[in-house]
Amino acid sequence: MAGFWFTEKQTDHFGITMRVNQTLHTEQTDFQKLDMVETEEFGNMLLLDGMVMTTQVDEFVYHEMVAHPILNTHPNPEAVLVVGGGDGGVLREIMKHDKVEKAVLVDIDGKVIEYSKKYLPEIACELDNPRVEVKVDDGFMHIINSKDMYDVIMVDSTEPVGPAAPLFERGFYQGIYEALKEDGMFVAQTDNPWFKADLIQKVSRDVREIFPVTRTYIANIPTYPSGMWTFTLGSKKYDPLAVKVEEIPDLPTKYYSPELHHACFVLPKFVKALVE
Ligand code: SAM
Repeated sequence: MAGFWFTEKQTDHFGITMRVNQTLHTEQTDFQKLDMVETEEFGNMLLLDGMVMTTQVDEFVYHEMVAHPILNTHPNPEAVLVVGGGDGGVLREIMKHDKVEKAVLVDIDGKVIEYSKKYLPEIACELDNPRVEVKVDDGFMHIINSKDMYDVIMVDSTEPVGPAAPLFERGFYQGIYEALKEDGMFVAQTDNPWFKADLIQKVSRDVREIFPVTRTYIANIPTYPSGMWTFTLGSKKYDPLAVKVEEIPDLPTKYYSPELHHACFVLPKFVKALVE
């Protein structure tokens, strides 16, 4: 049988493994090792520094869950920023919201954008939408140089190694606070509670010290280590749990729903213990 088994190691003794049919593209960019591969089970898959970023089959879970809980909480999310997110999946979901007048995407690596357009076209499909502005730049610097600009900020970054390491620091969350308008809110992907408990604990503590409303929610993503993924939300004013289910629009989604808007914030006890 052609192809090979790919493993993303999470520890020295645990990894997530899947069969790859062929490598479509591989290169060392200025920032990271980029591999685009075709898998047997999950379609085309983007890897950065050997870590799974997204796959054609399960991408909808992550992208919907970054975008919709926060956009259905803020009453008027006109100006939105995505830090990272160069594959375009979060933007595709943002574009389902008519209230969003402008979405700016700042990814440090133009190669991610280029190869996502080529090999993940149904994920990257809104990158050229006229309501979208794409910038190839460091998200940390963009945040530091933005004041009182955005209603909603979404951090769709790689894990806290390499160019994304500063995006998990307390100073970054403080910068986000200042880049947001007076009733703004943000959400960040914060990895998995099985192997990254310390990270979740730290981010939750940092965000709680800065934002009056802090919430953690989870989703099931089979190709991410452990399958259980967390998202941390910080808000100056609005609380996602105060939104009435009957007021949430039923968008064309496959994972997120009005009922899940509330259900995703119900945490298993061992995760709850990390964020309280
Ligand atoms: N969904 C994925 C996950 O959780 O594994 C991450 C998606 S991937 C599109 C994340 C993106 O963050 C990459 O395209 C990478 O180039 C970008 N990135 C990493 N560090 C960054 C930084 N400092 N500023 C802007 N983008 C950054």
